Amino acid sequence: MREHDTETVVIIGAGLAGLTAAATAAREGRPVIVVEAHAAGGRARTDELSGYRFNQGPHALCRGGEAWRILRDLGVPHRGHRPPLRGARVVRDGKLAGVPVAKMGSLVRRLLTVSAASWAGRSAEEWVESLGRSRDLPDLARMLIRVTTYVTDLRGMPADFAISRLKAARRGVSYLDQGFASLVEGLWSAASAAGATMRTRQAATGVSGGPGGWEVTLASGEVLPAAAVVIAAGSPATARELLPADPGWPELSRPVTAACLDLGLRGPHPSVVIGVDEPMYLACHCPPGDLAPAGGSVVHVMRYGARDAGLDRADLERFAALAGITDDQIVAKRFLPVHVVTHVLPGPDAGLAGRPGVTVPGSPGVYLAGDWVGPSGWLSDAAMASGQHAGLLAAGAAEQERTHPRAA
Ligand SMILES: Cc1cc2nc3c(=O)[nH]c(=O)nc-3n(C[C@H](O)[C@H](O)[C@H](O)COP(=O)(O)OP(=O)(O)OC[C@H]3O[C@@H](n4cnc5c(N)ncnc54)[C@H](O)[C@@H]3O)c2cc1C
Repeated sequence: MREHDTETVVIIGAGLAGLTAAATAAREGRPVIVVEAHAAGGRARTDELSGYRFNQGPHALCRGGEAWRILRDLGVPHRGHRPPLRGARVVRDGKLAGVPVAKMGSLVRRLLTVSAASWAGRSAEEWVESLGRSRDLPDLARMLIRVTTYVTDLRGMPADFAISRLKAARRGVSYLDQGFASLVEGLWSAASAAGATMRTRQAATGVSGGPGGWEVTLASGEVLPAAAVVIAAGSPATARELLPADPGWPELSRPVTAACLDLGLRGPHPSVVIGVDEPMYLACHCPPGDLAPAGGSVVHVMRYGARDAGLDRADLERFAALAGITDDQIVAKRFLPVHVVTHVLPGPDAGLAGRPGVTVPGSPGVYLAGDWVGPSGWLSDAAMASGQHAGLLAAGAAEQERTHPRAA
């Protein structure tokens, strides 16, 4: 019979959620092994192409959000800048225009007077439709909801969540000078400095009850004994496959998607262009920052809500051309069709509180983390908030197992 491991925490997945769990559990003094099917980073990877460094589409860190706080707690440094809004333009009725700053400012102030709590249980679409018959305010609300959440399906989205995101957006966001890879590297440094080890290119295939603890089986057939396990493998479908028993979740597959065109330009590109009445985004993420060779720039173009890949690619190229980008400026180009921004859009009834929790009923010592887990945060904020919670619980469960082992 396999010897039960009394202390080790095994983490499945080295995205932001898994790495946060790893750093947290390791700093609590537990031995930690991270198992990653590919390379570390998941959707927070930054890839290099012809000297340009691309996040997986546009990524921004919410200032003062859960991820911001956890990075500070873990001592993970990050350097970034606010989006370059000077010179920003909008597209409406297919035409490029300057931002009507005074008019937009007063409309935004009107939007922000609403109380999120008073819209609990209703959809974001109901709220937007209540804003009046003129196009201005509803179009602006839809645009701001897209920019702050990536969501286009307002009927399937809670109004109070949309309103809270608009209010939280006043704190602003940071475009990271070295990309989201700097978070991946920083979290892994914190975890490895506390003794965690990582095994990349080794997928887990299942978690089962072992003698007095848990066992994580790898695709190679190797079995890792564990006192506690954190499943941070990106999606609810993968978690469901790995879990020792059916978690009994309802159908959770309501992904929020985007199609992205990442561009490396030989010269500078000014600012930001946002679609008011179409779900399009374009922004220069560098300079400032270290993502482009000297004199060059990195621009992310995105369509919120992916459709047919050919249609989306043509739309992204049209939008880049409308923003003034010409083919001869482009040195590096990457198209990401149907990219999953987050796997679960919570419905209007339950809101974020309806997402599965970090603990798994019936499987004590097995925990979940990811951007679809737990009641707080959105995207990376949710991934890291649930990762921190899961890491603390896993460390506590491992300690409990060490001091009061369950019978084998
Ligand atoms: C286009 C786009 C734009 C985005 N913009 C933003 C933004 O502006 N701000 C923001 O905060 N967030 C943004 N996000 C979301 C953010 O990237 C994710 O919320 C976050 O990276 C998710 O982290 P995660 O650890 O939950 O999952 P993932 O990053 O998906 O990590 C899961 C990891 O588990 C591994 N894995 C899967 N199965 C197994 C297995 N069986 N065994 C071992 N390993 C396994 C995977 O290889 C992967 O590395 C964006 C995402 C996209 C796609």
